[in-house]
Amino acid sequence: MNSGDESSATGSLYLVATPIGNLGDCSPRAKETLATCDLIACEDTRVTAKLLFHLGVKVPTTSYREENERRKAPELVDRIERGEKIGLVSDAGFPAISDPGFRVVRECRRRNLPVVPVPGPNAAITALAVSGLPTDKFLYLGFLPNKSAGRCRVLEQWNDFPGSLVIYESKYRVAKALADIENVFGPARIICIAREITKMHETFYIGKITDFTIPFAEKKVKGEFVLIVGPAGYVL
Ligand code: SAM
Repeated sequence: MNSGDESSATGSLYLVATPIGNLGDCSPRAKETLATCDLIACEDTRVTAKLLFHLGVKVPTTSYREENERRKAPELVDRIERGEKIGLVSDAGFPAISDPGFRVVRECRRRNLPVVPVPGPNAAITALAVSGLPTDKFLYLGFLPNKSAGRCRVLEQWNDFPGSLVIYESKYRVAKALADIENVFGPARIICIAREITKMHETFYIGKITDFTIPFAEKKVKGEFVLIVGPAGYVL
């Protein structure tokens, strides 16, 4: 069992959260940690190269993404076992949260090797906190299925959940997802559509779902979105 201060161990995996838009949100500890790593595993090496350049950090990187996670996870953990410090970052936000990371973390836990969190930005928690919807109880659904039938099935399952639902959605599907949310939960359900958090066009649309389904369907939407859906009967 792992417990106590894991940061003093020689070889470790560092889960380093990176900005979801505003580079100023990269913590001093994130920078220090990345600078002292032997290797940084990243989702897209080109995206991370830009961040490392901005931070003035010169450390080798390696690709660690959904397609190669199964093969790369044990390789990275072998290196940690040999005493190396490996940083793990994703393109934005907290690694392993709707991003690659779970497999390498699990492998470290299986081998009883330290996993050190370097917390920071996360789109889901940030959107929830500023939404005005209940934060004491929430369910993180991540990305819903791509097709409407699958999305509706998942939503129906959580119709009576007594807290907020947190959903990631892409610009390509956000209008369709809003339509499905209205169909399943009804027009009066309160929603917060958090767009481009910490970026230039940051916007929070908050109100009854029915106020947003048509406007979102009628225009070409841009940006990144988190949807926070309030519990049944919740009034803002
Ligand atoms: N690991 C990331 C995190 O900690 O938030 C999430 C990665 S997931 C692949 C990307 C999704 O997160 C986007 O499609 C969007 O739903 C959400 N997201 C990321 N950055 C965002 C931002 N600045 N504003 C709104 N949503 C964002």
